[in-house]
Amino acid sequence: MSFNIAKESGKKRVVVVGGGFGGLKLANELSGSDFQVILVDKNNYHQFPPLIYQVASAGLEPSSISFPFRKIFSKKKKDVYFRMGEARFIYPDRNILQTSIGKVEYDYLILAAGTTSNFFGNKHIEEEAIPMKTLSEAMGLRNALLSNFERSVTCATEQERRELLNIVVVGGGATGVEIAGALAEMKHYVLPKDYPDMDNNLLQIYLIEATDRLLSGMSMDSSRKAAEFLQEMGVNVCLGKKVLDYQDHEVLLEDGTSVPTRTFIWVSGVRANSIGNIPETSIGRGGRIKVDAFNRVEGLPNVFCIGDQCIMLNGDSEYPNGHPQLAQVAIQQGKLLADNLKRMEAGQELKPFRYRNLGSMATVGRNKAVAEFSKVKTQGWFAWFLWLVVHLRSILGVRNKINVLLNWMWSYLTYDRSFRLIVYARKAKEVVEREKREAEVHWGE
Ligand SMILES: Cc1cc2nc3c(=O)[nH]c(=O)nc-3n(C[C@H](O)[C@H](O)[C@H](O)COP(=O)(O)OP(=O)(O)OC[C@H]3O[C@@H](n4cnc5c(N)ncnc54)[C@H](O)[C@@H]3O)c2cc1C
Repeated sequence: MSFNIAKESGKKRVVVVGGGFGGLKLANELSGSDFQVILVDKNNYHQFPPLIYQVASAGLEPSSISFPFRKIFSKKKKDVYFRMGEARFIYPDRNILQTSIGKVEYDYLILAAGTTSNFFGNKHIEEEAIPMKTLSEAMGLRNALLSNFERSVTCATEQERRELLNIVVVGGGATGVEIAGALAEMKHYVLPKDYPDMDNNLLQIYLIEATDRLLSGMSMDSSRKAAEFLQEMGVNVCLGKKVLDYQDHEVLLEDGTSVPTRTFIWVSGVRANSIGNIPETSIGRGGRIKVDAFNRVEGLPNVFCIGDQCIMLNGDSEYPNGHPQLAQVAIQQGKLLADNLKRMEAGQELKPFRYRNLGSMATVGRNKAVAEFSKVKTQGWFAWFLWLVVHLRSILGVRNKINVLLNWMWSYLTYDRSFRLIVYARKAKEVVEREKREAEVHWGE
């Protein structure tokens, strides 16, 4: 297997791993420059994680919050090459990246591969829990939820029914709050219509958080308000409860109690995706790659890392312990690094990264959200409206924006969620076999 891309004479080659918020911004900014840009991603599409919970809760279709890379680069940005493959190792002494589809040489390598769910070393939870970090995981969760509802009307025992209708969400960050709120809305507005013969009160949603508050990245005010909104909507908010394990359809807590469930959703933290051969000393908290103020990987002069996958310690005076893992950090780092690469080639001084915090927000349900900006904090309808506008503006593609807007309007007016189909994708035999071969790519191939 090979990349099949000839090096262009006189142009330095920039290989970007990951087309998320950071990698895509950087590739777009370098398009039309004096670099040859190759973007490698394990998926053939860019996804918009802030709305993944709406796909999981049957509010949006996956295609509304994703965009194929080939479409992005097909018109104006033809000079950016896309290859679908998974980055595995780097050989920094030879400027080579090894991927599942072969090796590629680089002049500059940019790692922007983001994060994956963190199970904090608990293999058992990792095998049993349902994560919600990617579009495919969101579809897996949607199928599990809907088939558990179906099963609950036909199952044989009350115990089984309770397990099928209890939903446990672990992790009280923005994602946990948002999915718990969306499920509560499903319980109140959708299930009574779809399942008139089901006792709606049997469906219980638990949001479990180990610390003493939700939304730890926001102010106490917002944390309290989010908990209040969720409780009003009937969610059981359990603070200061640590999950130890999941056995025989029961979530076991440190305080000795347990919650029976067959829908065990894990959104309790992330860990940076790893790329082999990065020196151990360059790996920091949460597996994040340590970078300097220019996003350069410590000890590797032509390798950079941006976004969630990196940690900038002591680089930005306002964030001495690293930046929060948010879309804006990745986007701003991608933009600055593109400028810095051009400066480097022109022999100019590089600019250090300074994060401009544009604010943070989380939505709980219709007319219920919390939002914080440098001088203003708002909660309720206005925060919810701002949340809608900001997210709609950020989704890639006009068609996607229209799709999402129409779906939101439809749901708002009808209290309905449109996409309640249980559909399992089946991979063609040829694809399964190719994936097996690609998984076997080892060092030095
Ligand atoms: C459910 C959810 C909700 C969120 N909500 C918000 C929000 O409301 N606001 C906010 O600011 N942030 C939110 N975030 C965080 C935000 O999505 C991240 O901070 C942001 O996506 C980071 O961008 P990135 O470019 O570093 O990585 P990502 O956007 O994660 O992109 C990484 C890319 O790398 C690819 N990749 C991974 N490994 C490899 C590999 N080995 N080889 C090749 N490609 C690879 C992936 O396919 C992906 O395309 C949310 C995250 C999640 C999961």
